[in-house]
Amino acid sequence: MTGPVRVCRHCDGVITDPEDAVIVAHEQGNSGPGWTVWAHRDHAELVDTLPDDFMRVLLRVWSVRSR
Ligand SMILES: [Zn+2]
Repeated sequence: MTGPVRVCRHCDGVITDPEDAVIVAHEQGNSGPGWTVWAHRDHAELVDTLPDDFMRVLLRVWSVRSR
């Protein structure tokens, strides 16, 4: 297997199915372009390093659902 290995931020498991991989954050590197933080689809909402934009989307979804 070539390609980048995606590791789930929540459970540290390797995400083998691309369909199951979701981006939960993009962290800045000290001297590089930074890197993307991945998680399993089912674990994405359990990761506590959510970027502001993602939280905003979630909050909007929650507020719509609670109406
Ligand atoms: Zn996981």
